[in-house]
Amino acid sequence: MTLQNLHTHTVFSDGGSTAEEMVLGAIRAGCSSLGFSDHSPLSPFYDPDRYAMAASDVPAYRSEILRLREKYAGELEIYLGLEQDCDSPAPDAGFDYLIGSVHSVVADGVCLSVDNTREVLISAVRDHFGGDYLALAEAYYQRVGGVAGRTRCQIVGHFDLLTKFNEGDRLFDTGAPRYLDAAMGALDALLKEDVLFEINTGAMSRGCRSAPYPAPPLLRALRDRGGRICVASDSHRADTIAFAFRQAGELALSCGFREIWTLTGSGFQAVRLEKFLECVK
Ligand SMILES: [Zn+2]
Ligand SMILES: [Zn+2]
Repeated sequence: MTLQNLHTHTVFSDGGSTAEEMVLGAIRAGCSSLGFSDHSPLSPFYDPDRYAMAASDVPAYRSEILRLREKYAGELEIYLGLEQDCDSPAPDAGFDYLIGSVHSVVADGVCLSVDNTREVLISAVRDHFGGDYLALAEAYYQRVGGVAGRTRCQIVGHFDLLTKFNEGDRLFDTGAPRYLDAAMGALDALLKEDVLFEINTGAMSRGCRSAPYPAPPLLRALRDRGGRICVASDSHRADTIAFAFRQAGELALSCGFREIWTLTGSGFQAVRLEKFLECVK
């Protein structure tokens, strides 16, 4: 069994650790493989300074990850990926995998982040959606439904990211029919694209949520429709590489999944959830 995390950020984008520090963190966490997925370059319209990698840094990113792959061969399998934003131009070939992600919506010609702070989210809904969070959700899931087509990703990142600041449904009701219709529409659109969906613990390690993405009703719907999942930490620091993986695995099991998918040298392969849970603390 390989304990793997494919969603990792470094100082090349908005992470706090170098790529090599992340490698050492993964080895300490008991991983046998690690994927790097720094944020793809964005145009100035999309607020790239906040999180994206500069286009001019992509060659250095690529060569550093390939250097680490050589250096740690035999200790850790290393994959070169990108978290490909739905607003980024398509990357050159040569990445082992892409995670397709939506971090913002566009309204009134303005790019509005759903991932920045609670205050930014509240202002965006007040100023551009007339205070209607479900209208924001409809705009968000419209974009999410198209993310695989736009990015050609193999994995969909943090499907319901817009709930990052909505623990306990404090801001909006995730049981509302309009919310669920929008989310299910995106789910159905993505299921036609043969992509994996993350169970993502990133907002937990940063203290924003107590449970992984996606929410259980969405995970159960995904399971009912034959969707496939992987477990990812969206780690931005060397000490969170496998953060809350046990909770993620138990969530998957409780929602009816029996396996998760991991990347290998010969493509994605299924691993029994029981085996995964035996490996995580
Ligand atoms: Zn992301
Ligand atoms: Zn990420």
